[in-house]
Amino acid sequence: MEFIGAGKICSFCGVDWSPQRRFAGGFGAQICAECIARYSDMFSTPAKLKAATRPPWNEMSNEQMLDSLPDIVATSEQVDEFLHGWVGLLRERGISWQEIGLALGVSRQAAWERFTRGKRSPAREAEPG
Ligand SMILES: [Zn+2]
Repeated sequence: MEFIGAGKICSFCGVDWSPQRRFAGGFGAQICAECIARYSDMFSTPAKLKAATRPPWNEMSNEQMLDSLPDIVATSEQVDEFLHGWVGLLRERGISWQEIGLALGVSRQAAWERFTRGKRSPAREAEPG
């Protein structure tokens, strides 16, 4: 699985990735350098941290919350795409659907169905035997 920045968004502010806007990420979430700086400052002193503990939606208008919906959907899709890539890596390593299902707390069949239905890759995997 290769990291491809194009099409990725910052999971914290929604900006698009670009070669000039570097991202850090993990498990499908991405964060831009500006958000890293903002959150680093936010956590820099106990007073700043205490001031930042209120949920941001308490201060948001209904329109602001509605405007955030597409970014939340895009972040969810980004994480789901990463999850499918991660499971693909596990399959390439020879990990069985049984083991993947066990790790996720679902049956082998449920794991197979989740990760092979609507699969973006042209080669669908055969049903687990
Ligand atoms: Zn950001």
